[in-house]
Amino acid sequence: MAKPVVEKKYSFLDSIYLFEILKGMVLTMRHFMFNFFASFRPGPHTIPTTWQYPEDRREISPIFRGEHMLMLDEQGRELCVGCGMCAKICPAKCITVEMAKVKEGEESKYAGKTHCKNFNIDLLRCIFCGFCEETCPKSAIELGQGYELSRFTKEECQLGKERLLKNYHWAKKNNKLKPKKVEAEQPKDKKE
Ligand code: SF4
Ligand code: SF4
Repeated sequence: MAKPVVEKKYSFLDSIYLFEILKGMVLTMRHFMFNFFASFRPGPHTIPTTWQYPEDRREISPIFRGEHMLMLDEQGRELCVGCGMCAKICPAKCITVEMAKVKEGEESKYAGKTHCKNFNIDLLRCIFCGFCEETCPKSAIELGQGYELSRFTKEECQLGKERLLKNYHWAKKNNKLKPKKVEAEQPKDKKE
């Protein structure tokens, strides 16, 4: 059996929603004034709800996985030996490496006895998983902080060796290199 409907009695003021409309307008005005005065505050990002990109940029984590870099050692020598392990592990199959022996007289340019003659990463396929970085035995490849990855053409999405080294130099100059990894301390019984 259906329940009886109880009709609520509204006063005249209730029925025209005057107070509710005024309450809503006060709330809107409060937010407007807050944002208005906040926009005059000094600092790089003055409006609290909006970042004025590209003028204002957030600090991103040093371990962010962005555009790749080919690393150099302290003496400025290329660390990559062209072993191809990164290409092997890459789930997106977007790395191609061509290895070559270091020629006589070029030993100061490379840290190993071999080097990568050509190195290419297809950014269109990369999923930024970081496996290449994790697997590299020489710590020669890292994913840097570059996150502005849009390009006009497909060709520009091919990161060659030159571009990867340029990314390293940019990161070094702007103090954006990743902090060195700290090896986890082994339990005593495992050390012995
Ligand atoms: S980046 Fe590392 S894993 Fe890849 S080819 Fe070079 S040395 Fe080998
Ligand atoms: S981040 Fe992952 S998908 Fe991208 S190149 Fe490295 S291994 Fe391949």
